[in-house]
Amino acid sequence: MKWSYFNNCSEVFGCASLNNKKYCILNRQYTKEEYETLVPKIIEHMRKTGEWWEFFPISISPFWYNESAAMDHYPLSKEKILESGFKLSTYENPKPVVTKTIPASKLPEDIREIPDDILNWAIECEVTGRPFRIIKPELEFYRKHSLPIPRRHPDQRHLDRIKLRNPRKLYSRDCDKCGKWMNTTYSIDRTEIIYCEQCYDKELS
Ligand SMILES: [Zn+2]
Repeated sequence: MKWSYFNNCSEVFGCASLNNKKYCILNRQYTKEEYETLVPKIIEHMRKTGEWWEFFPISISPFWYNESAAMDHYPLSKEKILESGFKLSTYENPKPVVTKTIPASKLPEDIREIPDDILNWAIECEVTGRPFRIIKPELEFYRKHSLPIPRRHPDQRHLDRIKLRNPRKLYSRDCDKCGKWMNTTYSIDRTEIIYCEQCYDKELS
């Protein structure tokens, strides 16, 4: 059985990221004889326990559900995360040590009115109230491009970007140019003009 990232390997079982290896189980080297005796035994055991060909169980996941990309695509409540057997992270960033904290609504719109001292402040996110800071290269970037200071915590900005994506669902509809039947993440009642892949590529070339 081969899982992932192998280079010139054969007879490896439950391994990952190996180069030029043979007769390994869980990335550990065995002799040919040991390998050939052990592997059928392990398979037989896994068949009995129902683990054979299944994904690794949730219980050994080293990740917290709410800190993984799964949360972006399939958001769950705290209760649901625990109920489903996933790990839940309750980590909160320590409060920033600052000379003052200001609500986002008090920030001047114009970047030219922002003093250097902002680097010593925390800003309260306009959505969640969570405080965040601006670092020097960031302030320089906003000044260079005449951009206002963000009013939302970086995590909230990440969520906002995720919300701009289409739902993870495919709809069948006609191409708006050639009429070909296709699958797209744009539902039929959306107002955008949707082309099939070929028409889209042609339009751009
Ligand atoms: Zn088309």
